[in-house]
Amino acid sequence: MSDDFDVIVMGAGPAGSAAAKRAADLGLTVALIDRSVFPRHKLCGALVSPRAHTAIADVHGTKLPDDMYLASRKVAFKWNGETLREIEAPYDLTYTMRTDFDHWLQRSALRAGAVNMEGTRVAEILDKENALLLEDGRRLTYGVFIGADGAASPVAKHLFGQAFDNDKIAFAFETEVDDPCAPDALMSIDFRIVRWGYGWNFPKRATRTIGLGGIKSVDQDLKTLMNRYLVNEGVDPTSVKIKGAHLPGGDYKVKPGRGNVLLAGDAAGFVDAITGEGIALAIESGALAAEAAAEAIRAGHPARADRTYFAKVKPIQSELDKVRRIRGIVYAEAFETHFKSRLTESQWVASSFFDVLAGKTTYAEVEKRFAQKAFASAIKGITAWPAKLRRRA
Ligand SMILES: Cc1cc2nc3c(=O)[nH]c(=O)nc-3n(C[C@H](O)[C@H](O)[C@H](O)COP(=O)(O)OP(=O)(O)OC[C@H]3O[C@@H](n4cnc5c(N)ncnc54)[C@H](O)[C@@H]3O)c2cc1C
Repeated sequence: MSDDFDVIVMGAGPAGSAAAKRAADLGLTVALIDRSVFPRHKLCGALVSPRAHTAIADVHGTKLPDDMYLASRKVAFKWNGETLREIEAPYDLTYTMRTDFDHWLQRSALRAGAVNMEGTRVAEILDKENALLLEDGRRLTYGVFIGADGAASPVAKHLFGQAFDNDKIAFAFETEVDDPCAPDALMSIDFRIVRWGYGWNFPKRATRTIGLGGIKSVDQDLKTLMNRYLVNEGVDPTSVKIKGAHLPGGDYKVKPGRGNVLLAGDAAGFVDAITGEGIALAIESGALAAEAAAEAIRAGHPARADRTYFAKVKPIQSELDKVRRIRGIVYAEAFETHFKSRLTESQWVASSFFDVLAGKTTYAEVEKRFAQKAFASAIKGITAWPAKLRRRA
C-alpha cells in the first residue's frame, strides 16, 4: 500500500467521514485516520436535525437507515424544572446513538475508497514536508491534510497554539439513563437550568440521553447544576455515570486552516452556539474541505486549498456570527422574563426554533423577523406620538 495520498483526513467523526467520502467520490486517494477503532463512543445528545439528514443524503448518497434512530414530534419547553408548554414539532425530530451513527458514516467513506487507518495516532505533523509521522513509525505524505479531529483538535493546536479559548466555548455534561423509549416519546429542553445554555432530555431506543451545556466562565458550577437537573428529570445522580466534554460553539476559526492544512467540523468551531448542534455543520464543512482540496490539487496548487476553503465556508461563518448575536439577546439576563413569556406563548418563537433546526430558515432571517417584531411591538407601545411626528390634518 502506498503511503502517499492526495488527501489525509484525521478524525473519522461526521466531519472526517464526510471529507473522506467526498474526496474519494471526486477521484482522490484518501486515508481516513482515527485514534479509535470503530464503533466507538462519542458524548453527544445526537439529535440529528433535518438539516443534518439533508447533508447526509447529499454527501453519503443515501438516507440514514430508519432503524438507527427514534423519531418523535413531541417537545416540551421547560424553565428550571417547570414545564412551560408542550408542543408538536412540524416534522420528525430524530435521535440516534453516535456509536452506531459514526460507524455507519465511517463505513460509507471506506466503501467509497478511503483507506481505513483506525486505531492509529498521529505522532507528529510535519507540515513543511507535507507529511505525518504515525505512532507505529510509518510516514505518510499528503497533498492536502484535513483536521477533523474534534473539539480538542491536535491539528488546530499545531496550527494556532491552542484549539480554543475554553472561556469562550461551552462545556457539557451528559449521561445515558436506561429507559427504552417508544416512538414519539417526549423530548424536553430546559432553557433556565443553566445560564448561556440549556438542558436536554432526548428519547432514544434503549436509553434517555440527559445533559446540559453552558459557558463555564459566567461563573456557574455546571456539575452541581447537572445533578440538580437530573433530580428535576426524575433521575438519581448517584445512579448514573456522568461524563463531560467541551462544545466549541461561540469561537469558530475565522481562518480554519493554513495552506494545505484545513480544519473542519468541531476542529474549526462550526457549532451553533444557541442549539449546540454541530453534526450538520460538521458534515457540510467536511465535504467543503474535500472539494477545496480537489480544486487546489487539480489546479496544481495544493497550498492554495485554504483560500478556496475559506471562501466556501463563509456562509457558515456569517450564520455563526448571527447565532452569536442572537445568543447575546436570548440569554441576556435583562431579557429573561421576556424570553420566558415568549417561550410560553409565542408561536413565532417555536416555529423559528423548528425552522432553524430544519435548515428551512437562516438566523439572518430570524434576526430580521425579530427586529420587525420588536419594532412593531415598540410602535404598539407608543401611546402618544411626539408632536413633530404627528401627521398634520
Ligand atoms: C454533550 C454534547 C452533546 C451534543 N449534542 C449534539 C446534538 O444533539 N446534535 C448535534 O448536532 N450536535 C451535538 N453536539 C455536537 C456534536 O457532537 C459535534 O459538533 C460533532 O460531533 C462534530 O463532529 P466532528 O466530526 O467535527 O468531531 P467529532 O465527532 O468529535 O470527531 C472527531 C474524531 O477525531 C478523532 N481524533 C481526535 N483526536 C485524534 C488524534 N489525535 N488522532 C486521530 N484521531 C483523533 C476522534 O477519535 C473522533 O472520532 C454535542 C456535543 C456534546 C459535547
